[in-house]
Amino acid sequence: MKITELSPLVRRITADNGGVFTGAGTNTYLIGHQEITVIDPGPASKEHIENIVKICGEDIKQILVTHTHNDHSPGAKLLHQRTAAPVMGMYALHKEMQDPTFKANRILKHGDEINEAEYSLKVIHTPGHASNHLCFLLEEENLIFTGDHIMEGSTVVIAPPDGNMKQYIDALEDLKNIDLKLLAPGHGNLMENPYSVVDWIVSHRMYREKKVIDAITEASKATLDELIKAVYDDIDEHLLVIAKYSLEAHLNKLIEEERVTLEDKNYFWKG
Ligand SMILES: [Zn+2]
Repeated sequence: MKITELSPLVRRITADNGGVFTGAGTNTYLIGHQEITVIDPGPASKEHIENIVKICGEDIKQILVTHTHNDHSPGAKLLHQRTAAPVMGMYALHKEMQDPTFKANRILKHGDEINEAEYSLKVIHTPGHASNHLCFLLEEENLIFTGDHIMEGSTVVIAPPDGNMKQYIDALEDLKNIDLKLLAPGHGNLMENPYSVVDWIVSHRMYREKKVIDAITEASKATLDELIKAVYDDIDEHLLVIAKYSLEAHLNKLIEEERVTLEDKNYFWKG
């Protein structure tokens, strides 16, 4: 077990679930030293939960989850059973790809605050990767726990119907209204220059959207399968299955903006 001290208030341990979607594994963050908040206890791994208890003792104050995908929240149930600490988060609007064991003792909403003597955390609702995605701002350090809203080293998958590209980009832009110094992602290392990171992600998404628009206007109408290779001509073939979700999310955004229509599996350009 490797504990990384990131700042006076924040420690990190990473679950042993590395992979295509999870990078080196899911980060679990421990905030504070007397009254500890655990953010994202990770997958249902007994070993990881025991490691958390070994570090924190049994007096964990609360367990927060950024969202209820299976690499972030199933550990919450195990850690709650082990320590009785209340689980806090939001429920997703759609059941697909969600952790069915997730149960919140307190449902959080945008703007909620969790105040302890040592620190305070502010809840920021950031839908996009998931409808119930939350970031948590550690006000004393201008550090924000970004879950899968922002990951280090790769772009996150936006999978409809729970994932929504328009909300995702709006929620990224909203982060620029917060005074931030550091991003603490759900996967990967701390990231500096938060506003440049946000700008890069938004511009990368808009570059991809431009490719979607170019491909549809060129073909005048096209299906998802016809669009995927033209839009994602710069990634490994085996990643196309995953990219298809984000492609659909881009198209849904263009439909919401009334620039594209969908009829009988064919996407049409409206302009
Ligand atoms: Zn994740």
